[in-house]
Amino acid sequence: MNINKKFFLLAVVCLSMAGGLALGVEAAKGLNLKPGFNLFSKQQDIEAGKQAAAEADKQLPLLNDPETLRYINDLGKRLTQFEPLPADYPWTFKVVNTKDINAFALPGGFIYVNRGAIESAENEAQLAGVIAHETGHVVMRHGTHQATERIAAEVPLAILGGLLGQSSSLMSQLSEMVVNVGVSSLFLHNSRSAEAQADAVGTYVLYHAGYDPHGMAQFFTIIEKKYPATATQSRAAQFFSDHPDPGNRIQAVDAEIPQLGPAIQGKQDSPEFQAVKRRVLGMPAPTVSNQAGQTQSGGTIGNVSRVDVMPSGNFKNFNHSAYRISYPDNWEVFGDTSSAVTIAPRAGISGNAVGYGVIINSFQPEPGRGNGSLDDATHQLIDSLRQGNPDLKMIGHGEDVRVNRRPGKGVELTGPSPITDTTGHPLREHDWLVAVQRSDGTLVYMAFISPEQDFNTLRPTFESMVQGFQLR
Ligand SMILES: [Zn+2]
Repeated sequence: MNINKKFFLLAVVCLSMAGGLALGVEAAKGLNLKPGFNLFSKQQDIEAGKQAAAEADKQLPLLNDPETLRYINDLGKRLTQFEPLPADYPWTFKVVNTKDINAFALPGGFIYVNRGAIESAENEAQLAGVIAHETGHVVMRHGTHQATERIAAEVPLAILGGLLGQSSSLMSQLSEMVVNVGVSSLFLHNSRSAEAQADAVGTYVLYHAGYDPHGMAQFFTIIEKKYPATATQSRAAQFFSDHPDPGNRIQAVDAEIPQLGPAIQGKQDSPEFQAVKRRVLGMPAPTVSNQAGQTQSGGTIGNVSRVDVMPSGNFKNFNHSAYRISYPDNWEVFGDTSSAVTIAPRAGISGNAVGYGVIINSFQPEPGRGNGSLDDATHQLIDSLRQGNPDLKMIGHGEDVRVNRRPGKGVELTGPSPITDTTGHPLREHDWLVAVQRSDGTLVYMAFISPEQDFNTLRPTFESMVQGFQLR
């Protein structure tokens, strides 16, 4: 791709708007929480959330048990009285009838808690922690912040100008994206910095609502141990895919608690929680088709059958002269121990292009250009990738990631996939580029590739590959 000039113009526009909006940002009391750049109003969060919730309600198997719903709504609404930012949202709490351990929040206060989360929480403080964390995504407005970044990346400048002048056309653009991109990819792909904020809000809310403020972090630790997120089939995998660890999650929460105020003997549990937990544990198991819920593990996508591309939960190692990586044992390595390498399912390769999989390569930044930092080198790498793929667009600004304890840079990109739909149109692709720097300044990078609609399903596998990646 040639470098996309529109993209750079747009970036300038966004920066200047962000500067203007920053004046209106409310700082949360006692917490250093600033909501990210957002084109939408809080009222539009509610409108967008209503539309997305209607979609989610159609797609998800909801648990319509009045007692469970009454309990979860009482608990949820009690917690939202203690939000650090003023939030007048129509808070609604629903339960999804699946054993997968997960919870998610749509803009405007529509929160979904899986039955599996209620069943695996040990006490009320832990369940309250999960819900308080979700309310954090709502009050920090992470859903429409993500949508803002996507619109900035994808909408041509000429059209964007019109959208900004008229909030109704901005909303119709968003509605179109809810339909085309899907609720999950549009609103639930939380960045690590968003997770850190939701963790901070969750802990704040727990403390002020009189719960043990460690409840949220305890829940995360328990499900991570009991249901390791490395296997894509794990009941908790989707949770850590929707809520990636910002790094030192537990330590960050431990450091926040003393700053909230005097130590309290927070509430741990209630007979009501234990009664509801027993109640859902005693209900018939959800049927298999119900369990499919959000994740798509079957069916076809374009002319590719999902069973042929989805990673197995078993990993094997590939030893390159420059690194070592673990990869799903039903994927293949293309390339050799001294070249650029593609690791992919054979069915995920279309012509010479990779539709599913990862490309691992090195990149030599231009000597004398930039300051030689990881950030600078990563931006040079993206520029160079764009020269070969002009339709590739960056979403957001990139984030720090840990690559097997080494500092790395992660950048999300979107573009056309080599996999086409039934009418021959390319599907939308989601790429996650992760780069680490060698001591001589060279980058080694992994470009993880998937059609947008399957990216969240593959994310835990990609995360495992990053965690196990060892530079030599
Ligand atoms: Zn989260």
